Amino acid sequence: MIHDRTLILIKPDALNRGLVGEIIKRFENKGLKMVGMKMIRLNDQILREHYSHLADKPFFPRIAEFMKGWPVIALVLEGLEVVESVRFITGETSGRKADAGTIRGDFSMSIQANIVHASDSVENAITEIQRFFTEDELHSWERNNFEVIYAEDER
Ligand code: ADP
Repeated sequence: MIHDRTLILIKPDALNRGLVGEIIKRFENKGLKMVGMKMIRLNDQILREHYSHLADKPFFPRIAEFMKGWPVIALVLEGLEVVESVRFITGETSGRKADAGTIRGDFSMSIQANIVHASDSVENAITEIQRFFTEDELHSWERNNFEVIYAEDER
């Protein structure tokens, strides 16, 4: 089975509201595997690349100020059809329109401050993961439900 990867950014509104754990919990509960995670401070150059499709929108400068004003948490998640699956649980762009039960639907009343970024296609996910992570920062691992969890302690 081929498992894809997707890039998540937990945005400054979630960080300020103390929702980082809640967001990660939803991805873990869903059954997705974290293979990369770090806190980073974005700059103008990376934001211009990441939001190049919005560069000439009037709201672009505001998004850039918002996204570089605080650190963000970058995650890489792995799973079967993970890109599409994560977009379903993220919800649509506007928190006011996103379905209840989705991350944006449950936690946001804003378009800009909509809690998370999630890659919107397998192709973009590959580009975005390379933008935010080096190969060394990504970790493949196999689930082990027994030895790790019930490891015998040293006496
Ligand atoms: P998505 O994040 O759902 O893939 P887009 O790629 O269209 O959506 O937009 C990227 C981000 O830009 C959104 O998540 C949101 O934070 C911001 N954004 C989009 N449209 C607007 C808008 N009209 N006003 C303010 N911010 C916006």
